Amino acid sequence: MHRYPDSGGYELVRKLAERHRLDTGQIVLGNGSDEIIGMLARAFLQPGDEVIMPRPAFQMYEIETRAAAAVPVEVPLDRLRTDLEAMAARITDRTRLVFVNTPHNPTGSLVARAELEAFMRRLPEGVVLALDEAYTEFVRDPAGPDSLDYVRAGRPVVGLRTFSKAYGLAGLRIGYGVMPVDVAEVLNRVRPPFNVNLPAQAAAAAALDDDAFLQETLRVVHAGVDYLQEALAALGLECQPTQANFLMVRVPGEGRRFFEALLERGVIVRPLASYGFPDRLRVSVGRAEENQRFVEAWRQVLGV
Ligand code: PMP
Repeated sequence: MHRYPDSGGYELVRKLAERHRLDTGQIVLGNGSDEIIGMLARAFLQPGDEVIMPRPAFQMYEIETRAAAAVPVEVPLDRLRTDLEAMAARITDRTRLVFVNTPHNPTGSLVARAELEAFMRRLPEGVVLALDEAYTEFVRDPAGPDSLDYVRAGRPVVGLRTFSKAYGLAGLRIGYGVMPVDVAEVLNRVRPPFNVNLPAQAAAAAALDDDAFLQETLRVVHAGVDYLQEALAALGLECQPTQANFLMVRVPGEGRRFFEALLERGVIVRPLASYGFPDRLRVSVGRAEENQRFVEAWRQVLGV
């Protein structure tokens, strides 16, 4: 580690290109997919430009938009799903970038492929669609879109992927974007040369070869989702269906209060009041014993 990392991430990019059937020039590595969001904002946004995104959504979309002195155009969800129809209605001649997140954080909902494609047909030339697929490996519903199809077809789509979730490398900070070559060339002009560190590149390349680990992760997470949905429903708590590795749970009262009661029992969940859901929590699925402990904590909190 006394050497600098490979600034182009040659080995990893080559592996990703092979796996996804893309050219190496269609892949840009980031210090987490977070950094790709920042690069998109820096590369494409001028002050006053508009960026369409759902509300609520992953907060980096808004943070990076504002940091570029651009304007976030936030479109409320419709029954906890991304409202592509309403988002299309907000397109103006200032629109430069659109963020769609599927599965959506924090609801776990998917956008349907047909709906997304109808939305894409309404995007004017020069607008980039960022399709944030941070949780895509966990998806079980076949109705969802895949950014790779669009990138291979030469559409102006940037797929955001990460090693932080299904590959378990969040602490190393590595993600990537898949995109048309001309978009990648622009991003590479604002990308710091050593943005992805050497152990992260090595670990991600190794992780791609470790399919057994990925499959075991998916098995544990899917079993955990199914277990928690059943156990929470049995306790009378309403759970959203999810395509991700987390669940959104409705609680009988103020989410913050239940967050604190669970915290006292050693379980940390995410209250969602700041996302506009005062009576919901987001729960990351853990290992079987952690999930059981969480359900036990709920029994104590609810006194059942
Ligand atoms: N997009 C979404 C929707 C996320 O939830 C996250 C992480 N919480 C990210 C992107 C960023 O992930 P990372 O920077 O670790 O790749």
